[in-house]
Amino acid sequence: SSSALSPIKSGGRAEEMKTQEEKSTQPMSDLHKIDPELIQRLAYDALVWSSIHGLVVGDKSVPRSGKVPGVGLVHAPIALLPLSFPESHWKQACEVSPIFNELIDRVSLDGEFLQDSLSRVRVCVLLSGWNCRTKEVDAFTSRLMDIHSQMLENGKREEIRLGLHRSDYMLDEQTKLLLQIEINTISASFPGLGSLVSELHRSLLNQYKEQLGLDSRRIPRNAAVNGFAEALAKAWEEYSNPRAVVMFVVQTEERNICFPQLCNTYDVTTIRKTLAEIDEQGVLQPDGTLLVGDQAIGVIYFRAGYAPTDYPSESEWRARLLMEQSSAVKCPSISYHLAGTKKIQQELAKPNVLERFLENKDDIAKIRKCFAGLWSLDDSDIVKDAIERPEFYVMKPQREGGGNNIYGDNVRKSLLRLQEEGTEENAAYILMQRIFPTIAPTYLMRDGICHKDHAMSELGIYGAYLRNKENMIMNEQCGYLMRTKVSSSNEGGVAAGFAVLDSVYLN
Ligand code: ADP
Ligand code: MG
Ligand code: MG
Repeated sequence: SSSALSPIKSGGRAEEMKTQEEKSTQPMSDLHKIDPELIQRLAYDALVWSSIHGLVVGDKSVPRSGKVPGVGLVHAPIALLPLSFPESHWKQACEVSPIFNELIDRVSLDGEFLQDSLSRVRVCVLLSGWNCRTKEVDAFTSRLMDIHSQMLENGKREEIRLGLHRSDYMLDEQTKLLLQIEINTISASFPGLGSLVSELHRSLLNQYKEQLGLDSRRIPRNAAVNGFAEALAKAWEEYSNPRAVVMFVVQTEERNICFPQLCNTYDVTTIRKTLAEIDEQGVLQPDGTLLVGDQAIGVIYFRAGYAPTDYPSESEWRARLLMEQSSAVKCPSISYHLAGTKKIQQELAKPNVLERFLENKDDIAKIRKCFAGLWSLDDSDIVKDAIERPEFYVMKPQREGGGNNIYGDNVRKSLLRLQEEGTEENAAYILMQRIFPTIAPTYLMRDGICHKDHAMSELGIYGAYLRNKENMIMNEQCGYLMRTKVSSSNEGGVAAGFAVLDSVYLN
């Protein structure tokens, strides 16, 4: 069967006679056949577990949530049971994680590659008669690139480089290929909640072992949050100023508090600041130390700053520049941020580009195997095909955070509009092969309500990378996040309300 879910084994008499060994090799149950009453009990227990263990997010319907920590919390949107996923693909995704980490680092060091690849996203030169004018195709990316080129001009080098990434994949049903959706180098979200969902599922599988006949050991351990915390603490150590703190750059409203304090495990103080506060309170000392208030900043972790709306005024841009100029370890630096853009993803997929950054042929082959079809809009054959068969493509701008892509008939309309209006805006988008993962019935929980729907999933693998000049300190896969969304939705954002957090049941 092509379905990720295989036939049911529900706790009948014959079932009870099975040996433990046999049980532990069973495939995931068919959700259709689970007794509705059992589902209700599972759902209730899942809610209790979530409340007790902090598997919660800010509740948008409560006005003060997001402003006051601990006020207006609701359980995170979750799948009731883990998603059945092939172990071979799981291993593949884990295996490429350190290679992607290394690739991002190498790309980040090639300022020319970043600037050249993104140059047309930034401005395009319009020639009409004797007039030459420039037009900004994507003002947001342009601003990021301005900061980047300023750093290049100043010869600024990042010696301690910290990457906390999440590489996302979908398993294409027809080809059985695990294909990368994107890699997030800024604000990769949910490491904390992802770990908790895995624990919740393990706990439910243990508690209802007899009824479900599932083996909780098939849910891989998920230490995403510990891995990220360890990397942050180690980066702080490398910065080697015992009085410095770790600063989380947060949005003015924060509904997904994603990191525990680092002080219990690592004796590192953390503070949270918005970009506006950093502009107001931040100063750069002559030696490059960033002071915010009277605190020296050793490491900066961005939970904000990836979207144009995070920069409502010049103040936020000043803060971003100030941080970039400082000696603090930035996660991400401006180069890491740009290396994670969709345009760079598309450039890396061109023939012979990976070879520019990686030497090992096996590594290159492993990475390339994950690449879906990616094209620039300059490729007229592809554009023509996408206009004819838009359902096989996704059109993407240089944006993060979900909800920005173009699908279906809108791909055709957008491409036709661009053709009419001239090609300069082409550079703002890339085209990507549309991936079609398996659709399976799933129990989704949101706002205390459990409902069954057809859903598809996207696997995210967290990677942590830390280096100080030539010294590699950390490069590992550290946990995962499965996100499951109803199949009728194109986009998959959890915070945006399209998807739920899920975990993996290996088969
Ligand atoms: P963002 O940076 O905004 O998260 P993504 O590239 O991850 O942008 O796209 C958002 C969502 O759109 C993904 O989580 C996925 O659900 C869907 N998506 C993106 N690319 C594809 C694709 N090639 N095929 C199918 N779905 C896709
Ligand atoms: Mg993204
Ligand atoms: Mg994404």
